[in-house]
Amino acid sequence: MHKTVLLLLLIILSLLTGCVTNPITGEKEFNFISESQEMQIGRQYAPEIEKQMGSKIKDPDIQNYIAGIGAKIVRVSHMPDRDFKFAALDHKSVNAMALPDGSIYITRGMLETMTSEAQLASVLAHEAVHVTARHVSLAMSKQIGFDLLLSIVASKTEMGTMSKTIANYGKQIISLRFSRDDEHEADVGGLDYMIKAGYNPNAFVEVMEILEKQSKTKPIEFLSSHPLPARRKEDLKMRIRNKRLSKNLMVGESEYKKNVLDKL
Ligand SMILES: [Zn+2]
Repeated sequence: MHKTVLLLLLIILSLLTGCVTNPITGEKEFNFISESQEMQIGRQYAPEIEKQMGSKIKDPDIQNYIAGIGAKIVRVSHMPDRDFKFAALDHKSVNAMALPDGSIYITRGMLETMTSEAQLASVLAHEAVHVTARHVSLAMSKQIGFDLLLSIVASKTEMGTMSKTIANYGKQIISLRFSRDDEHEADVGGLDYMIKAGYNPNAFVEVMEILEKQSKTKPIEFLSSHPLPARRKEDLKMRIRNKRLSKNLMVGESEYKKNVLDKL
């Protein structure tokens, strides 16, 4: 058989079986949700998440600032061409979440706990890996059920029932649980993304410390869906020690104060 034909057949076969390479681990994985379905899931759930989480903060400057940092991360990610959307939601809970299409949300409560642009970048980078490694669509199909998730996307159910279903599952997505492996991948990959985007990775460790400290006095939603920060912190520290870092990586405390804290 001609080589090109063989190659084409192989490509078609891999598409049919839904075998994709996880960009973070380099391992082959099965994912039965296609990229266009991921986009559709995102489109359908985004309005529901925004509604349930107090809608977007109505300050275009804060939104643009966050979107700008997000764009720097996307540029160095494994999906530089995907149309990621970063937004701050007006909710007091301390949380950050992602939808499979690349809609990434961070709450007012989370923004208030942080003190630098690099810390914000670490949270956005962690969430971005949940998208690029396709953790979100896999976790959603596990939690909601593959068939149901796709039937919602395919709009097979009649409109009224569908929006009720989306509303019900919206709550689950806000506290979507990832496996420990997924979280580890998101930490490791997020650390790489933030460094490549020019941020000081020690800020990631600081976020863990802030959340750890705060969780002693109040419930942190982000931690209820994520493993406890103590071990993650030690792992991150070890990884940072083993990296050769450029001296001019950004921390951005005054930038963060000016663009976020002073405006919240
Ligand atoms: Zn996570």
